[in-house]
Amino acid sequence: MQARRKDGSVFACELAVGKVQGVEPPRFIGFIHDITPRKLADERLRRSESELRLAQELANLGNYVVHLDQSEPDYYSPQLCRILGIGAAEVALPLTALLERWVHPGDREKFDEACRELESPANAFDCEYCIVLEDGTTRYLHHIAQVTRDAQGNPLKHIGTIHDVSDRRATEDEARQLQERLTHFSRLSTMGEMAAGLAHEINQPLTAIATYAQACQRFMRSPNRDDADVLEALAQINAQALRAGEVIRRLRNFVKNREVKREPVDCNRLLDDLRTLAETDARLHNVRLRIDAEPALPTVYADPIQLQQVVLNLVRNAIDAMSEAPETRREVLLSTRQLPEGEIEIIVADHGSGLAPEAAEHLFNPFFTTKSGGTGLGLAISRSIVRAHGGRLWHTPNEGTGARFHFTLPASPMTLVSKGE
Ligand code: ADP
Repeated sequence: MQARRKDGSVFACELAVGKVQGVEPPRFIGFIHDITPRKLADERLRRSESELRLAQELANLGNYVVHLDQSEPDYYSPQLCRILGIGAAEVALPLTALLERWVHPGDREKFDEACRELESPANAFDCEYCIVLEDGTTRYLHHIAQVTRDAQGNPLKHIGTIHDVSDRRATEDEARQLQERLTHFSRLSTMGEMAAGLAHEINQPLTAIATYAQACQRFMRSPNRDDADVLEALAQINAQALRAGEVIRRLRNFVKNREVKREPVDCNRLLDDLRTLAETDARLHNVRLRIDAEPALPTVYADPIQLQQVVLNLVRNAIDAMSEAPETRREVLLSTRQLPEGEIEIIVADHGSGLAPEAAEHLFNPFFTTKSGGTGLGLAISRSIVRAHGGRLWHTPNEGTGARFHFTLPASPMTLVSKGE
């Protein structure tokens, strides 16, 4: 009841009154217990419970406590029941047994493995899995649980949280599908451009072969034929056939490596490995390879073989571009650095002839080449690889003479976090 003090202030109290037996006139004893602190504590508890409930609703996260020894009633938070679409009374013991019925077959193995962990000395369950509810809806759950044990090691309680991550998964799936569609599209358009160029490119050596073959026939029929002419025409036929073969070989390589296998790649290590591959070619042309690597770069998430293909292409081009340069200038500088936005940039710089303005425009078109033995596919393929990795490839003039080819790759999110710590 409410009571009022002499000074007029009101407080909550418990009042107990008893009659004293066997006395006349009757006497009574009263106890007044000020319960203000208990009321305050009750109020605080109620408030924090309703805040917790709201937080669980907002985060779509539920929690539970299962008392295996049945010493106390089990607890399932309202949000947990909402996520699983059940009433608290329906939950069987332990909760994992109930969930086991609903686990998607594709996730069963990892779910069972996590359950074994819960029973093992690790006492912990941490698993993300999909469940299919009785009404057919699917939910993705991130489920974390622990077992507490008594001194003899007997399990006492399962305590856990279940986070409904279906929305996040749906967004991730959508983003992945979009990325795949984009990659597929850019690949298709590159392939389309290539197919158009390919017809033209293969046609050229085939026309040349036909012309040389006709010339051969004429030479052979001629009464005063010169074998040297015939041999020269045959040599040309051979060279043209090889050229057509080279175009097809490079296209085939590109198509073969289409499936991208991504893994964390340390760009500085990649350049080091690549130096071994490119060294022979460089030495043959009296070119020095120098590497200027920024230390402690975050890794990128990429296909290392494809990245090597890109850098190797750029190094080959740089070496070709310096074939006329004085030997003292023949150096290719490979450098890495992290850009302020977090991307990793790799630069291949040479002191060659640089790029003529008319070449600069068509450089990345498939089959554009200024070299007699070139295929014109190197840069087109490199750019489509870099784009598929979420990066850009471009060129700038080098200081003094020559060209610099740059490309960027996004750093793996994981390494960015650890670098920031
Ligand atoms: P290819 O090397 O077979 O010609 P690419 O696609 O790799 O095919 O290169 C296309 C063209 O771009 C080359 O023929 C050349 O004219 C030009 N190029 C590429 N890299 C350089 C460079 N480092 N310096 C000058 N020109 C270059």
